[in-house]
Amino acid sequence: MARTRNAVATREAPPAGRAAGRARKTPTAKRPEGISPFTQPELWNGPGRHLLDLDHVSPQEITEILRSADGMKEVLSRRVRKTPALRGKTIVTLFFEASTRTRVSFEQAGKVLGADVINVTASTSSVTKGESLLNTVRTLESMHVDVLVMRHPHSGAPYFVARHVDAAVVNAGDGTHAHPTQALLDLYTIESRLGGVAGKKIAIIGDVLYSRVARSNIWGLSKMGANVTLYGPPTLMPPDLPDLNPATGPGAVVHAASMDEAVDGADAVMMLRIQRERQAAGHLPSMREYSQVYGLNAKRLALARPGALVMHPGPMNEGIEISPDVAHGAQAVIEEQVANGVAVRMAVLYMLAARGNSGR
Ligand code: ASP
Repeated sequence: MARTRNAVATREAPPAGRAAGRARKTPTAKRPEGISPFTQPELWNGPGRHLLDLDHVSPQEITEILRSADGMKEVLSRRVRKTPALRGKTIVTLFFEASTRTRVSFEQAGKVLGADVINVTASTSSVTKGESLLNTVRTLESMHVDVLVMRHPHSGAPYFVARHVDAAVVNAGDGTHAHPTQALLDLYTIESRLGGVAGKKIAIIGDVLYSRVARSNIWGLSKMGANVTLYGPPTLMPPDLPDLNPATGPGAVVHAASMDEAVDGADAVMMLRIQRERQAAGHLPSMREYSQVYGLNAKRLALARPGALVMHPGPMNEGIEISPDVAHGAQAVIEEQVANGVAVRMAVLYMLAARGNSGR
């Protein structure tokens, strides 16, 4: 039987080694504003400042971004995929962690909108000479950057940067914390395939503890009224799901007791990559055991609603969290997620660069 909670998302992976999966009391106290480094409403003043996570983005603002993505998708379907919407604007992608799809997606999004896009990776920047994060971003800013798209292995790094630069900051993944544009593109994909998100059962399965994708999706999906079911190895589930602010939305977040229960009747099954690079010792069962107990295969998928969506943020470990036949089967929308990512990122960049910072 699933344990129902209020719509909930953790802000950060808990300290390594805390036992997970044991019975926990549902917290009722509201988290005081300002305690968490991530609870900083001043960093999000509606579309137009920064996009660091979805916690301070209202359902109306999410809807606004998704509707703008519809228009961007139309631009992407044209024979000449180019608009001058962001001509004269400069977007820098600053990646301190490996990435293929996210960085290329932002780059393509910026270029289709006519912006100048400059890609900086840690391995080719002065970071390798010991330059601090702050000096790196200040140097970039003195070159009149409008939007800084940033990925960093440390949770919270984009929040630190946002406090010190005038450019709009987009969090393209910070440690185990958040990946808001991934959650937006997942919302967009679910909505466009299923006709809506509210009331849908979305199963998020795997390494929830270390997944920034899961965290941002929990915020976004629950705000938009979905019922989120989480499942994974007890050691890879957050040991605590702190209370969210009441603006989170009508959706529920429940923990399933088994994989079958998680998938049963689901409208979409979102598999997570094992975050091997972030694992603490002892949190991960053997890969063989993991794929047997927690992997999505055709037999398990048959428990979901007919035509349920199979999703994965990529990169996939085929044969571990997802079997190849399911990953490439008729129900998989994984490539569509990637394609939608460009439209959604165009919408985000446009909102931040064209409207929020007009005049800069
Ligand atoms: N690409 C996503 C991220 O950067 C998912 C993953 O890496 O597992 O968070």
